[in-house]
Amino acid sequence: MSMDIVKAVTLCEVGPRDGLQNEKTLLSVEEKLELIEAVADAGFPVIEVGSFVHPKAVPQMADTDEVFRRLRRKPGVQYRALIANLKGVERAAGCGCTKVKLNVSASKAHNIANLNRAPAETVAGFQGCADAARAAGMEISGSISMAFGSPWDREIPLSDVKEIVDAYLAVGVTEISLSDASGQAYPTQVYQICAEMARSYPQVTWWLHFHNTRGLGISNIMAGMQAGFTRFDSAFAGVGGCPFVPGAAGNVATEDVVHLCDEMGVETGVDLDRSMEVSRRLVQILGHNTDSYLLRAGKSKDLILELPVKK
Ligand code: ZN
Repeated sequence: MSMDIVKAVTLCEVGPRDGLQNEKTLLSVEEKLELIEAVADAGFPVIEVGSFVHPKAVPQMADTDEVFRRLRRKPGVQYRALIANLKGVERAAGCGCTKVKLNVSASKAHNIANLNRAPAETVAGFQGCADAARAAGMEISGSISMAFGSPWDREIPLSDVKEIVDAYLAVGVTEISLSDASGQAYPTQVYQICAEMARSYPQVTWWLHFHNTRGLGISNIMAGMQAGFTRFDSAFAGVGGCPFVPGAAGNVATEDVVHLCDEMGVETGVDLDRSMEVSRRLVQILGHNTDSYLLRAGKSKDLILELPVKK
């Protein structure tokens, strides 16, 4: 009997945004372009290029406009960026970005402390962004961070997450990412939440976004696949973190996810060797090792060791 699992998945490389924004080293526009173009050439269908947020808040992303302007776009690849407000929509439209993503924290405590509003109210306030994006011919999606738990709450009730989904749908956003920025998700919970969300919101295009803070990223992706989810974020070489969560690790390493899928016969369209090359190049640019099993151990298929000869 074989395990029930999806046949193909769509991966988004979020390293250029979620990964690099947590690195001390500031990459040049040329280095970013080299990496992003190599990611596209490795076969990624979706790439998160950067974010249009205040350059003082995230200096690593200050040059996202220039990156978009100079990017060699591969046909069929979707290049998206994170935005926080109307200014972000304007910047995106000004440099030819055609897909933007909004974000809200599912933690009421976190959202109220930061923005003095409940998460669903924040999302209702995105109406202007959604209208402006559509008027500019851009696609718009949304993400919900801390959807599986937060460091500021004992628990995030699923009803709270659903309230946020309802608020996104009310402003016309039907592509939604459930994100575990703090690395608190675990497989049985992921399965249960995904199954429930798919049942409650068949009209939503779902993404999953897991950080590997406690080593459960890959297991959580598996649980998502078993619940029938097919869209996952990952970051080259596993770079990243979360500025306000102590000890937060990056997203699950892209090459680890591609390797998992290759081994199981789940189609990704991504070439693992080329993806590993991109990650190695990134490690070289950053000058430090990262959280990537594959970069450390290589592909299991490449392991044909010589047996020691007895003398
Ligand atoms: Zn993230």
